[in-house]
Amino acid sequence: MSEPIRRILIAGAGLGGLCAALCLNRQGFEVEVLERAPELAEVGAGIQISANSARVIAGLGLLDEMRRRGFEPEAAEIRDGLTGFTCYRTPLRGVHAARYGFPYIQIHRADFHDMLHEACLAAGITVSTDAPVTAYESLRDGVTVTLASGRVVAGDVLVGADGIHSVVRAQMLGKEQPRFTGQVAWRGTVPADRLPPGLVPATAGVWVGPGRHFVHYYLRGGRLVNFVAVEERKAWQTESWTEPGDVNELRAAFAGWHDVVTGILARVEHTFLWGLFGRDRLPCWTEGRVTLLGDACHPMLPFMAQGASMAIEDAHVLAHCLAAGRAVPEQALVRYQAVRIERATRVQQQAVANARLFHVRNRAAQILRLGAIWAGTHAIPNLATSRFDWLYGHDVTKD
Ligand SMILES: Cc1cc2nc3c(=O)[nH]c(=O)nc-3n(C[C@H](O)[C@H](O)[C@H](O)COP(=O)(O)OP(=O)(O)OC[C@H]3O[C@@H](n4cnc5c(N)ncnc54)[C@H](O)[C@@H]3O)c2cc1C
Repeated sequence: MSEPIRRILIAGAGLGGLCAALCLNRQGFEVEVLERAPELAEVGAGIQISANSARVIAGLGLLDEMRRRGFEPEAAEIRDGLTGFTCYRTPLRGVHAARYGFPYIQIHRADFHDMLHEACLAAGITVSTDAPVTAYESLRDGVTVTLASGRVVAGDVLVGADGIHSVVRAQMLGKEQPRFTGQVAWRGTVPADRLPPGLVPATAGVWVGPGRHFVHYYLRGGRLVNFVAVEERKAWQTESWTEPGDVNELRAAFAGWHDVVTGILARVEHTFLWGLFGRDRLPCWTEGRVTLLGDACHPMLPFMAQGASMAIEDAHVLAHCLAAGRAVPEQALVRYQAVRIERATRVQQQAVANARLFHVRNRAAQILRLGAIWAGTHAIPNLATSRFDWLYGHDVTKD
């Protein structure tokens, strides 16, 4: 056995990296987060946090603050984008928390990120910006990382929380570009007071249509409406992974849709377009004292709204495995991977299944599919409610 580990390096100060820093700090580790960007910033879009990850946020003592900054939707709905027919509705406000112990919250990514960063600073965690990790070296009793500046930073363990294009993953498993999934997403926000009163219901609304779907929900106590509009595309032509979106092209893609969708789009001033990329299940996430977390190891389509939630669950499990195995960190990291990989893969697969459900191209087939969902959820309402118990009801603190 080697000396108990003390100092953890984290590459990437995204939602996953900052959550991991807080979870590790609570277990008594000294943490340094190394972030590539010159300053911390998040995209102008929302994120949905369900009970399974809200449980971890609550454990960090941040749930009340998250509630204060976010919005709790009345319900989640799936509706036909053309007719408005509601084929599925499940209540959320009060009900999600009653069933799973923790609420369903929608929050602006920047607000969530700021909240985590403030908590890191209050806990004395070092978050270094302008610190791109370019490589790591495994030593017998530790690891060093080299930054683009040439500076070398030493620690006992390295966590690659550096997103879908992870440098840590590339060194561990070889350089391989993520796969374009054939989908693009426009994202943006509209101030609620710019929309006709009563137009947008206080729900997490998913509107489906041939080859595309549209999602909206409120942020910041109802002052902002977030939207995500997804369309199938043959290819992603540009080199960048995001680009400024063309608002007229976005409106044209959803022309003729229900008034709620076109009403929101009529008020959009700026939008960004994301190519959606994925990876197959990785053979492993861990090598010696180096491991991966979040999108670095399990990027997923956003159609379960679970990418960040999975990173947050990873953060909790990682910290607990390392705390229980301070003297045998290599084994602790293997255990972390073993606990997490099946669940993360299942959520990745469910997100792909939702893409098929939302985007049925043939209109007649889509009407039949939506009708079947409506009939199923009315015939066996309990089945509709319990279908995702495995996801939202999962207690990661017992893993
Ligand atoms: C359209 C869309 C909607 C989504 N909606 C939801 C949702 O509702 N709910 C949900 O849970 N998830 C959602 N997701 C997924 C979620 O955004 C991601 O899963 C989550 O942000 C991943 O967090 P992360 O910290 O692993 O990676 P990232 O957020 O990508 O953070 C990685 C960080 O590492 C830094 N970095 C990169 N390379 C280096 C380097 N070499 N050195 C140092 N730092 C580096 C980056 O600058 C960044 O700060 C959505 C995604 C999309 C595209």
